Amino acid sequence: MLKIDLHIHSIHSGHAYGTIYDIMRDAKSKGMEMIAITDHGPSMLGASTHIHFMMFGRSPKDHDGMEVLWGCEANIIDGEGSIDLDEKIVKKIDLLLLGLHLGTPYKDLGEKRNTEAVIKCFRKHPIHIFVHPATLFYKYDVEKVYQAACDNNILLEMNLANLAMLEDGDEKIRFEDLKKMVDIAKKNKKKIIVNSDAHFLHEIGDDSLLKKYWDRLGLDESMIINNYPDELRAFIKSKKLQKR
Ligand SMILES: [Zn+2]
Ligand SMILES: [Zn+2]
Repeated sequence: MLKIDLHIHSIHSGHAYGTIYDIMRDAKSKGMEMIAITDHGPSMLGASTHIHFMMFGRSPKDHDGMEVLWGCEANIIDGEGSIDLDEKIVKKIDLLLLGLHLGTPYKDLGEKRNTEAVIKCFRKHPIHIFVHPATLFYKYDVEKVYQAACDNNILLEMNLANLAMLEDGDEKIRFEDLKKMVDIAKKNKKKIIVNSDAHFLHEIGDDSLLKKYWDRLGLDESMIINNYPDELRAFIKSKKLQKR
């Protein structure tokens, strides 16, 4: 079980099923120490509006001693690397996740321009984590994108839902792309983050599949930032300072 899981969806994503209170209670009962509730950005089909994210100033930062962060899994919406969250809100939330998703205004521009769009986005916004980097909803050059994440001090994510997709033989994910991600992070002496991307309560913090792929992916405990809470906190804070 993860102690830290910074990618969890609530009913405010439109296709996830726990309330924020269900999530906090569930994570606490599993002995977790830090979670982030990170609903999909407003441009995704069925997601909440900007007003949802504007309320975070009043949200609980702690649940019975467990740290709770409030973030957004924002979407890239065009070839210029724009995202679907107002800059004012980006400055206020605890955590900015970024993803390239279906069900958003993004239009496939082909591999080269999709790659450029992601990299432009990395340079423009104070992103903490590039989520499920190996999911190819839209084709892009994975090696260039992984390298750009490292260059822009953005954490690459080992997404546990991706491993479940791999198990299911889903074509949108390939083992070799996950392996490349680990290799490129290592080469750049960067840590990666492990997150559940939970849409249901039972998925929160559940890293049981990771053990199965651990050796084949070439992972080692020293490259997992979840093992270093103080370093993770400092990283989150450094990006927030950049936002001012
Ligand atoms: Zn996503
Ligand atoms: Zn997600």
